[in-house]
Amino acid sequence: MAAQETVDHKYVYDFSEGNKDLKDLLGGKGANLAEMTNLGLPVPPGFTITTEACQAYLATGREPDGLAGQIEEHLEALERAMGKRLGDPQDPLLVSVRSGAKFSMPGMMETVLNVGLNDQSVVGLSAQASGSAGQAASGGDRFAWDSYRRLIQMFGKTVCEVPGEEFEHALDEAKRAKGTHNDLDLDADDLRGLVDAYKKIFLKHTGREFPQQPREQLDLAIRAVFESWNAERAVLYRRQERIPADLGTAVNVVTMVFGNLGPDSGTGVAFTRDPASGAQGIYGDYLANAQGEDVVAGIRNTVPLQELEQLDKASYDELLGIMARLEEHYKDLCDIEFTIERGKLWMLQTRVGKRTAAAAFVIAGQLVDEGLIDLDEALHRVNGAQLAQLMFPRFQLDHEFQPVAKGIGASPGAASGTVVFTSARAVELAAEGESVILVRRETNPDDLNGMIAAKGILTSRGGKTSHAAVVARGMGKTCVSGADEIEVNVPAKRFIVAGQTVNEGDVVSIDGTTGKVYLGEVPVMPSEVVQYFEGSLDPEHIDNALVRAVHRIMTHADGKRRLAVRTNADTGADAARARRFGAEGIGLCRTEHMFLGERRELVERLILARAEGEREAALAALLPLQRADFEEIFREMDGLPVTVRLIDPPLHEFLPPLEQLAVNVAVAQERGEDVAKEEALLAAVRRMHEENPMLGLRGVRLGLVIPGLFAMQVRAIAEAAVGCARNGGVAKPEIMVPLVGAVQELETVRAEAEKIIAEVVGDSGVEVLIGTMIEVPRAALTAGQIAEAAEFFSFGTNDLTQMGWGFSRDDVEGAFFWRYLELGIFGISPFESIDRDGVGRLVRIAAEEGRAARPGLKLGICGEHGGDPDSVHFFHEVGLDYVSCSPFRVPVARLEAGRAVVESGGSDSR
Ligand code: PEP
Ligand code: MG
Repeated sequence: MAAQETVDHKYVYDFSEGNKDLKDLLGGKGANLAEMTNLGLPVPPGFTITTEACQAYLATGREPDGLAGQIEEHLEALERAMGKRLGDPQDPLLVSVRSGAKFSMPGMMETVLNVGLNDQSVVGLSAQASGSAGQAASGGDRFAWDSYRRLIQMFGKTVCEVPGEEFEHALDEAKRAKGTHNDLDLDADDLRGLVDAYKKIFLKHTGREFPQQPREQLDLAIRAVFESWNAERAVLYRRQERIPADLGTAVNVVTMVFGNLGPDSGTGVAFTRDPASGAQGIYGDYLANAQGEDVVAGIRNTVPLQELEQLDKASYDELLGIMARLEEHYKDLCDIEFTIERGKLWMLQTRVGKRTAAAAFVIAGQLVDEGLIDLDEALHRVNGAQLAQLMFPRFQLDHEFQPVAKGIGASPGAASGTVVFTSARAVELAAEGESVILVRRETNPDDLNGMIAAKGILTSRGGKTSHAAVVARGMGKTCVSGADEIEVNVPAKRFIVAGQTVNEGDVVSIDGTTGKVYLGEVPVMPSEVVQYFEGSLDPEHIDNALVRAVHRIMTHADGKRRLAVRTNADTGADAARARRFGAEGIGLCRTEHMFLGERRELVERLILARAEGEREAALAALLPLQRADFEEIFREMDGLPVTVRLIDPPLHEFLPPLEQLAVNVAVAQERGEDVAKEEALLAAVRRMHEENPMLGLRGVRLGLVIPGLFAMQVRAIAEAAVGCARNGGVAKPEIMVPLVGAVQELETVRAEAEKIIAEVVGDSGVEVLIGTMIEVPRAALTAGQIAEAAEFFSFGTNDLTQMGWGFSRDDVEGAFFWRYLELGIFGISPFESIDRDGVGRLVRIAAEEGRAARPGLKLGICGEHGGDPDSVHFFHEVGLDYVSCSPFRVPVARLEAGRAVVESGGSDSR
């Protein structure tokens, strides 16, 4: 910065000197005003003070050398161009001083209007305004005094920190004295009186008179805009939006134009296409005889922009011409602010406009048709978050619905249904055709049937990677987790929220995108985009612009991407759906989900078995059940790879809860009943009990501790694959060992598995790969060794994040992440989007060292991050072969994998 603070450094740019690509230096507003000026559009003349000047000011507490002189030069040029002088008592030039950072920060920083008015020039302004067509002399007088009082108010508040309420009180007092509630009823004399009152307030708070020197007003206003970069609300907004704190704001000094000079004046906003649907046409609002701030304040109702055609056809036609020109130039939807002053149109702002998810796809498609952009650019202009939004049913929310609680939007969508508190009741009511919402404090694997039966899941505990959240996302089912305002009482079959009791049988609605919970039934609309992915809408033959655009852009993304996309699926139904959504295999089949329901008892027997015979009997009973599970999945994924993970969760999850069991045994003993069996069970449960089950006996550790368990699963997989081949199918199993931290663990499992596979597969032609998850930091750091025993790695980024950060994945998001987000320690939960610097580095190291040890090592990721847009880009960069995600995320990952290629500048076709 020091080098830039020389006298020669350029801190001020006339609008004619800038362009739209100079946003870093001129801010978004300044760069676009410059662009429009250079296109020859009617922009009120002005200049921009750069963000560098702001940075220098904020670093040193004073304006950089040379800035004052450059402002003077540009101001003089402006005065020459306008034929007016700032502060001229006869015909004053007035300017606005407006903030404008690189990224839009609406309403966060300051603006001062009407700079240049003082006790003399207000009279000149009055005379000039009175001369305008349709403006009576008294109207001109009123306008001038109103402009002056607005200056003192805005200047006092933003530049000199005079409490805004004082001005408000004085205004209210003036209206009260006049017997009105409406500002417009105050006439010139009232406003002159108000100016006096405002000046007194100003003097009282600042100890000085309101500055009469226009140049001093200007300098102080510029300084206030610089300082507003660090205003509390701006700092908070930046943190939230991840806008870097050191960018600074530019300051635009713009000739004032007035939309409140009579019926031939007005102000409006416009979009070059509908920002809601993307439809072509004219969209906007207009307010005659008003200034921009009146529109914001909602003093009067605006009219649709089309009505301007009747009011002022010349300006309307000119505006339409400019809108077309801007679209062609920016090659995108633009939004515009304009003012008409006495029949003359002025452009006050333009920028590439914000839009809904649907409009983003539709507009990108239209612009390709219009030849303005190519398909690579169209792909760049949409994103996976937008696609995900389009895939969920939505509530049709009318004003009458108010949320009663807000939790974490854990699995998006909208669901209404009857409240139930148990899995069994959910299954029962769903079988009767009822929509149900399963409400639990938190869910566990036993709730699975209820979750399948329910339309939505609501929990009062847990974060985005809690059991409820992960399983719901996997099923594409709406879920709100961690709604801690809800007090769930399962035995009493009710919950209490906001002082109201909701009983089993009552209806609630949950929004898994926003996390909001409503009482009663909110109507739901299904997603057409999902219908298209499901194959029930043919994009070639339906008149639906959104579906056609999605189809076209998805097809292009598929042609571009290098990453394959697989799915996490544990059932044939999930596998089939994911395949329709474009999954190219299964990246994670969690086998523990197959040990629920009636099989649970077999697992319990397995765990409690004291004698080898008992254990073997349990395993023998499980084998055919497992084989049937895998046969179904191989059938659905015929010809595609299927990664089956050997059982992972802590065994105590299959046993009754310790406390409950202890109480039962104690009560039975008290009654003198025979409790030998229960006592044995209790002893076993005590033995298995762990303080930190996530770090305990799970994954490969289980396989090494319980003889025959992994062997049974390996045999079931191999037999199912051979069975599939005999029936003419092609099964491509990949057996995955979870939670490996040392190569010796994997080698032990591998040696046993290879023997079984060789025995079962024989000469059937079936090939079975053996690989491992990389989800323990030690595994990532010893990947070179582990690769010697693995044909593939799949990164388990859920556990890798949990163990990399030392964050319990079931607890922390609901517990204290809000504070971490507030402090900016991270901008998004690392369970949601990969932490590139830490956990991502573990992935990078493991990928590099693994491939160095075993060229051709297959690399994938199957943690929740596999469906997160930003993370997909990271996995592309790191060079993984595939990402695997829940079925509903498959289209999102396909889109983002294509975007990753386009954005890294590649033309990397597969
Ligand atoms: C992981 O840890 O990222 C993973 C996929 O395994 P799970 O979520 O089942 O622990
Ligand atoms: Mg894991």
